[in-house]
Amino acid sequence: MRFKKPANILEGAVRPAKSIGKEKRPLAAMICPQCKKPLSAEELQSNLQVCPYCRYHFRIPARYRLAQICDSGTFCEKDAGLTAKDILAFPGYRQKLAAARETSCEEEAVICGLCEIGGRKTAIFAMEPEFMMGSMGSVVGEKITRLFELASAQRLPVIGFTVSGGARMQEGILSLMQMAKTSGAVQEHSAGGNLYLCVLTDPTTGGVTASFAMEADILIAEPRALIGFAGPRVIEQTTRKKLPEGFQRAELVLEKGFLDDIVDRRRQKVYISELLRLHAREVQA
Ligand SMILES: [Zn+2]
Repeated sequence: MRFKKPANILEGAVRPAKSIGKEKRPLAAMICPQCKKPLSAEELQSNLQVCPYCRYHFRIPARYRLAQICDSGTFCEKDAGLTAKDILAFPGYRQKLAAARETSCEEEAVICGLCEIGGRKTAIFAMEPEFMMGSMGSVVGEKITRLFELASAQRLPVIGFTVSGGARMQEGILSLMQMAKTSGAVQEHSAGGNLYLCVLTDPTTGGVTASFAMEADILIAEPRALIGFAGPRVIEQTTRKKLPEGFQRAELVLEKGFLDDIVDRRRQKVYISELLRLHAREVQA
């Protein structure tokens, strides 16, 4: 599927891609919100920001996640220079973008690139929770689409990590159309016989769930991740029914057959490497 478009107005000044693994934002000591135990920064770091007592998975920045998954020194960022524009002159959007850039130290809500995982070349994207809760605007949709197109051309698998509140309302219909655009690119990648594995992290909701997040060949989630379209409060108000315990949590989503597995963050690198190895053997055969 090809979408014709006029000259690309998303192309901003090209900024040098940042490295991964050298975090500008140091991760601090925390109280675990689930078991209430105090956790030191070192303890959290050695457990990849997972509580060693109750397995609570803390939200982590996209670059931190990439550093955990990509083989050291192999990540090469793509389209780092694409930045959002306030096309609709939506009240307060410019300020929100500026604040999001400040807190996240990122230009947009997704980071895309090529890397190696377990020695195998792959395309990868990770969404950034500190950038407007990973909301999908035109730039997020464009970067994801370009990554799938690049992966299709080079016959590479795509590994994705989603975290998102959904479509970015400040971009109106332009953000909603990213659902169709990304889905078209995922479909083309799939039609070429290429693998797409997506890891749904807390929370993955709205337009991202309704498009590329759930379209993967292999769908895994982090423990207790919230996965859904509309949030529980909206559903309760609409249906006037009390929702069951664990509603929209990964464990229930798995039980209902929408996921293939739930994988602890500390096992993800080995798990994904193994799937890539098996898939590569399958392709050769
Ligand atoms: Zn805990």
